[in-house]
Amino acid sequence: MPEIAKVEPLTTARALRGPFDYRLGEAHAGVDVGSVLVIPFGRRRVLGVVTSTASESDIEPERLAEPLSALEADVPAALVSLGLWVAEEYCSTPARGLALVLPPGTGTGSGRPLRAKRSLLVSLTLAGYQSTERPGRLGARQIAALRALAGGPLRAAELARASGCDHAGLRRLEELGLVRLENKAEPARRPELADVGARPGPGELTEAQEAALAEVTAALEAPAERREPLLLHGVTGSGKTEVYLRAAEEALARGRSAIVLVPEIALTPQTAGRFVQRFGDRVAVLHSALTARERFDEWARLRSGDARVCVGPRSAVFAPVEDLGLIVVDEEHDPSYKQEGDPRYDARRVAERRAGQEGAMLLAGSATPRPEAWQALRRLSLPTRVDGRGLPPVEAVSSLEAGGALHPRTRDALEEVRRREEKAIVLLNRRGWSNFLSCRTCGRAWGCPACDVTLVLHRSAGRVSCHHCGHSEQVPGACPDCGSVSIARHGAGTEQLGHELEDLVHPLPVVRLDTDSAAATGIGPLLERFERECAAVLVGTQMVAKGHDFPDVTLGVVLDADATLRFPDFRAEERTFSLVCQLAGRSGRGRRGGKVIVQALEPQARPLRHAAEHDAEGFTQGELQRRRALRYPPFGNLIRVICSAAEPGSEQAAADAVAERLEPPEATVLGPAPLFRRQGRERSQLVLKSADRSAAITAVRRAVEEVSSDRAHAEASFAVDVDPQ
Ligand code: ADP
Ligand code: ZN
Ligand code: ZN
Repeated sequence: MPEIAKVEPLTTARALRGPFDYRLGEAHAGVDVGSVLVIPFGRRRVLGVVTSTASESDIEPERLAEPLSALEADVPAALVSLGLWVAEEYCSTPARGLALVLPPGTGTGSGRPLRAKRSLLVSLTLAGYQSTERPGRLGARQIAALRALAGGPLRAAELARASGCDHAGLRRLEELGLVRLENKAEPARRPELADVGARPGPGELTEAQEAALAEVTAALEAPAERREPLLLHGVTGSGKTEVYLRAAEEALARGRSAIVLVPEIALTPQTAGRFVQRFGDRVAVLHSALTARERFDEWARLRSGDARVCVGPRSAVFAPVEDLGLIVVDEEHDPSYKQEGDPRYDARRVAERRAGQEGAMLLAGSATPRPEAWQALRRLSLPTRVDGRGLPPVEAVSSLEAGGALHPRTRDALEEVRRREEKAIVLLNRRGWSNFLSCRTCGRAWGCPACDVTLVLHRSAGRVSCHHCGHSEQVPGACPDCGSVSIARHGAGTEQLGHELEDLVHPLPVVRLDTDSAAATGIGPLLERFERECAAVLVGTQMVAKGHDFPDVTLGVVLDADATLRFPDFRAEERTFSLVCQLAGRSGRGRRGGKVIVQALEPQARPLRHAAEHDAEGFTQGELQRRRALRYPPFGNLIRVICSAAEPGSEQAAADAVAERLEPPEATVLGPAPLFRRQGRERSQLVLKSADRSAAITAVRRAVEEVSSDRAHAEASFAVDVDPQ
């Protein structure tokens, strides 16, 4: 038994550098790497994770404290090193990295950690069965209890309700040998997924699926050092999910477990549903809408090995499974794989790391893979849809000719959907009614008091709101500057578009899917409704372009498709291309075929041209050339530092100080450049572009640590984002 545990305390203080040594006494048998301990820490008691053990410490034993207790749930040792790696790789703290791998609900807060729910199960013994006939000297309630149990075991609480026999009464029956009392972990309640028609799997794979699966199986069987990560590039509807399902079966058949990462389960319940259908109780789903209790129960089923397949969003990459054989990253292009808050990890990179570390194989898939994946992974391809139907024709039209939100071609197509009673999906990546309001008399524009952005009108809520900080106020009746009541509304969002479409396609129902309608109704019911109707229009933000499989959609429309291209972001083209391809992928999956109309300011822009031809290869080759020339990922690494402060000027001074200290080899520093004010804080950012990833990360960490501990910059705060999106 180890005598010293090296423990990383789960405190938020950045300055504290663990791990710290604790002495393990008799009471701590079983404590090992991955144990979660309650430790005395200064004057407080905090949670800590054992990161390693030793037989002796540099500190004299009598000066070392002992842990107070250990939690029931612990973490596999491999995940401890993964959590610490994330902390290093993304310039975070060990505590924050480790928090990612802890049992859900453990946290760093004061809330009591969850444990498996237990209850007292009562069953009859043989003597008990006999005495239901000849109860002898028992009381009326005890007799009632025995008779109730003749139908099968019951929980003590239920039995008390049914018979009136309380706990003490049951204990006496136990002493008489008539019943057995067992303290059992309650079977976890399985969370439910929205029912939007997970269809049963096919009997036979297509030739292309078969070939892809053979490669996956070969990789599973290859010795770890020769196992290559794979990229499944398959057009929308080519049956990628079926390959993932079979791959997971192959992993299970070899006694290994599997993790399947999906973008957002609420948005694509079908994919998770198909795994549940195929694997039943062997799968645990880490749904984002789970209660803390459900989340813990699913985690515990994985930890115990009862469940060996985990399906979930990015955080599922930390699922506590052992003997990991396979990690699938579905829709690998999806930006939701990157975490927004500290640690700003990228689940795709963590998946690669974890697969390497645990000898598992990585299978990423998408219809529109990122250039990074295209370049780095060996590619398998599913070039056609399973049903042999072609991809829908895509027509690009100019928004300038539209004379309103909808181009005449778009209106015609929607009217046809109405006439023929079909389904359409319309995407506009902007929510609300209008982008902004201005006074027709004096020109005043309504802006957020805390951010330098305009307020968006939400008409049905009767409010104008900031989409960056949540500030919201009543719709103004008059201009506070000049008193004019003539207020102009500019730009249309999904709320207004939905309204317009209702008129256009009446009497077909229009279902709106964006964060506002989702907050009101939940995503599941909205998707279910669209699935259920025989004819309808689904309108919304990029949420409508996710991997839904509605077989009867005949029209897809993207409005203002190049809006994304107007942002100064090197991924803008990639985003635009994948958004249009993904939306196109929702159309024409059924017998009636389908088509797609794309409205854009520049319908001939490169990403739109390639998307119209469903040409991922051509687009990606061009994109890789451009990035190679500019040394953007995958040919270089980007690290972004954002400095912010309430006091104007302080953010700039802090950013300058960081820039001054940055002299990594083979790197360029872009900026500092001002960003728009957000949540009452001035912001400035600088971006480091470097060929040597780890040198750059170390240099940035050191520079930020120095500046943030300098009292001259006490006002400023710093956010480091490695591989920003
Ligand atoms: P992708 O993930 O590539 O978009 P899916 O796996 O969702 O494609 O497959 C699209 C549809 O085709 C699904 O309804 C699926 O059940 C069905 N499908 C998949 N493979 C086959 C096959 N080999 N034969 C018939 N239907 C299949
Ligand atoms: Zn005015
Ligand atoms: Zn704001």
